Amino acid sequence: MSHNLVPKLLRRWRRRMGRERVRCYYCCVILTEETLTTDHKTPRSRGGGGVKRNLVPACFECNQAKADESDEEFLGRKYCVVCFDCDSYLLNAATWRDTKRAARDHNDLTKHERIGIGEAFCDRA
Ligand SMILES: [Zn+2]
Ligand SMILES: [Zn+2]
Repeated sequence: MSHNLVPKLLRRWRRRMGRERVRCYYCCVILTEETLTTDHKTPRSRGGGGVKRNLVPACFECNQAKADESDEEFLGRKYCVVCFDCDSYLLNAATWRDTKRAARDHNDLTKHERIGIGEAFCDRA
């Protein structure tokens, strides 16, 4: 019987971090103690249980952005990326994973920090 798996899984993932890279299920970023959260692929509000196959490690940002969506809805939705620092339009109608990767790559290259990701930016194309 799994009473509450979440704290147990968090401990397990933290231990794993000492040996190997633990990545966010949604954007693949390497997680740290500070950014690690547990996400329910199917939200509890929609009947998703606290069972192992429904729980994944996720970064805080993805967890917040996903909110009450299922993993499939969240990963299937299209987003746009803009950089407010150099005013460049980086991506149009890309998956969440691709937008996050593009934002990271752009940040690494430019050291800019003000990146916008979301449907609200799509009309800039
Ligand atoms: Zn993430
Ligand atoms: Zn930029």
